[in-house]
Amino acid sequence: LAQLFRPLDMLGMVYRVIRQGLIDMEAMFRLIDTPPEISDAPGAEPLVVNGGAVAFDNVVFGYEPDRSILNGVSFAVGAGETLAIVGPSGAGKSTIARLLFRFYDPQGGRITIDEQDIAAVTQASLRGAIGIVPQDTVLFNDSIGYNIAYGREGAGADEVAAAAEGAAIDGFIAILPQGYDTEVGERGLKLSGGEKQRVAIARTLLKNPPVLILDEATSALDSRTEAAIQDTLERIAERRTTLVIAHRLSTVTGADRIIVLDHGRVAETGTHDQLLAMRGLYADMWARQQAEKEEGTV
Ligand code: ATP
Repeated sequence: LAQLFRPLDMLGMVYRVIRQGLIDMEAMFRLIDTPPEISDAPGAEPLVVNGGAVAFDNVVFGYEPDRSILNGVSFAVGAGETLAIVGPSGAGKSTIARLLFRFYDPQGGRITIDEQDIAAVTQASLRGAIGIVPQDTVLFNDSIGYNIAYGREGAGADEVAAAAEGAAIDGFIAILPQGYDTEVGERGLKLSGGEKQRVAIARTLLKNPPVLILDEATSALDSRTEAAIQDTLERIAERRTTLVIAHRLSTVTGADRIIVLDHGRVAETGTHDQLLAMRGLYADMWARQQAEKEEGTV
């Protein structure tokens, strides 16, 4: 009988390995479905980061040939600056992040980091230079320590603890029954949206990338958690070039520059105060969100 069951045991193990692999893949590619056709250009050299200035120059892109999403988008973010991207739902905000990470190539124009075309450098070096804090973080079925350490291969326990502290999740971990060894994910302790986002922030701190993409959560966190996360994010955005994909304008008022996307173009650019003074799209969006807030719907 044992002989009969051994292959079944093996099958179970193979299933578990594949399943964990699928979860890992899902976590990595959730933000973006990766088309397989993106590959390194022949003779591609690694990206050399010197400050991490990002520029989009007349970028044209559509997922399908007959429907363009970006119709010539240009903007520049200086090294260490924060740029917020706002605009109506479906305007292409997340698409900009996917293009910068090179999950797709634009059909026209150029995207550069420190004046190097991202299509000409190795993908590994490009993706190593960019950290993403996604809207919705997928946790592995493993310990919370592993989930943080995933940010950088070979990270030591002290580095993981420092990252947890930077993401302000150390206090939460300290009171868990098994501390950093506490199992999380589907089969373990369920974390709240805010806690998961802090795990993502800790991972990113470990990776320590010069360029950061923050994809602001659309799902509502309670306002106290949100304010605390906002604080943490602002701290990690210091000294890095940061693109914030913003769904709520209240979180971007401090950005060095804000671009308003509309109909595939940059319709307005400026600081919060400059954009309000223009009395255009941004000012309308701001007035609408303030009114909703007063009605208590946001
Ligand atoms: P939101 O504020 O709602 O998150 P967004 O401005 O980030 O929106 P994107 O996610 O960039 O918008 O999407 C822009 C447009 O591209 C949308 O109309 C969307 O339906 C379309 N789109 C996004 N991903 C794909 C895809 N993989 N294939 C085809 N179309 C897509």
